[in-house]
Amino acid sequence: MTASHDRFIQAQQHIPGGVNSPVRAFKGVGGDPVFVDHASGPYIYDPDGKRYIDYVGSWGPMILGHAHPQVLDAVSDVIKKGLSFGAPTTIETSMANRVCELVPSIELVRMVSSGTEATMSAIRLARGYTGRDKIVKFEGCYHGHSDSLLVKAGSGMLTLGEPSSPGVPAALAEFTITLNYNDIDQVKHTFAEIGEQIACIIVEPVAGNMNCIPPAPGFLECLREVCDQTGTVLIFDEVMTGFRVALGGVQGLYNITPDLTTLGKVIGGGMPVGAFGGKREIMEKISPLGPVYQAGTLSGNPVAMTAGLKTLELISVPGFFEDLTQRTTQLIDGIQAEADAAGVAMTTNQVGAMFGLFFTDAGKVTNFAQSMACQQEQFKTFFHAMLEQGIYLAPSAFEAGFVSAAHTQDDIQATIQAAGKVFKQMA
Ligand code: PMP
Repeated sequence: MTASHDRFIQAQQHIPGGVNSPVRAFKGVGGDPVFVDHASGPYIYDPDGKRYIDYVGSWGPMILGHAHPQVLDAVSDVIKKGLSFGAPTTIETSMANRVCELVPSIELVRMVSSGTEATMSAIRLARGYTGRDKIVKFEGCYHGHSDSLLVKAGSGMLTLGEPSSPGVPAALAEFTITLNYNDIDQVKHTFAEIGEQIACIIVEPVAGNMNCIPPAPGFLECLREVCDQTGTVLIFDEVMTGFRVALGGVQGLYNITPDLTTLGKVIGGGMPVGAFGGKREIMEKISPLGPVYQAGTLSGNPVAMTAGLKTLELISVPGFFEDLTQRTTQLIDGIQAEADAAGVAMTTNQVGAMFGLFFTDAGKVTNFAQSMACQQEQFKTFFHAMLEQGIYLAPSAFEAGFVSAAHTQDDIQATIQAAGKVFKQMA
């Protein structure tokens, strides 16, 4: 019996399912979740002291690895000044300046406390700006748990086998039009018919919540084009991809300019932070400048801003993303070679430091249906066998994996070796 098992039983007494966010409960893979006692660099440690090489990184934020000394020092210094003021601080100005510098499509930015708040607020703003109610999203993309966006969503929703949530009024869900990711014809057709009724398109420009699926050539360009033609706001949800696939996010990597961008995860360096921003003309509609209301008691919190700002500083070092991307390629190429050698049918996707492993013999995975068709049982077997060997992957076949700057050559090689052993058992 592990210490995590004990703790999981205790947690379930007063926490629904024993967790404060559903995918953590390991429902998608079965078994007990690993409780984390502490973490350092690329490793997390359970209460028994067992060490795992971590490819979840708190679901994306820990791009520098856990407990990075410079981030911890910056936070330790700032907490002595007080934890929250609910009044402006200069660190918020520094954060806004830095975000606008790194993501040039953002001219004004508002900080919030989660990715969900960021996307929810961006949608409200797009609706307020255009005076339209309908929104377009893509099946398998996850944009947080606000009502309008919990329709055919990805990530935890897919893991739990519930594409849409009870509690979302049908009258509201009707305004959410869900299209197929990477289906250019369907987008064009929809916009030819009703484009002028649509407030915004919200998209993960690299999808990371139906495993990792890059945009097909021309897909993001098509979204930009139909939005331009119909006065629709294009929102890139870069909560996962921002400061992760490249310093400038997907928009920097593929050189496509959205009207609004949502951010989260890395921007908080592990603290609860999100942000939304974009074109000045649209952002000026937000209160107190404009009539679209949005607010937050802890928004721009100084401790959170400090962790985020220090993280952004450290990832801005020249060569940071080249190194990280190369390390990620090495990892997934190594795993693929082991699968091939053992005769296990598998394929991979990668954009920057985001990766996906798919158990399928049907070739590259480029859309939601193909991701859903992958061998879930094989994934579960792989996941648990890797966990046993001290490799912590996301406990769901529908989540992207993340490599951090703290993962060393030894960690990568140890992971590839572990995968090789597991594939031989599976073959
Ligand atoms: N958008 C995307 C693309 C995400 O991946 C997530 C979270 N995984 C969210 C929004 C919601 O962010 P949060 O969990 O911080 O509310």
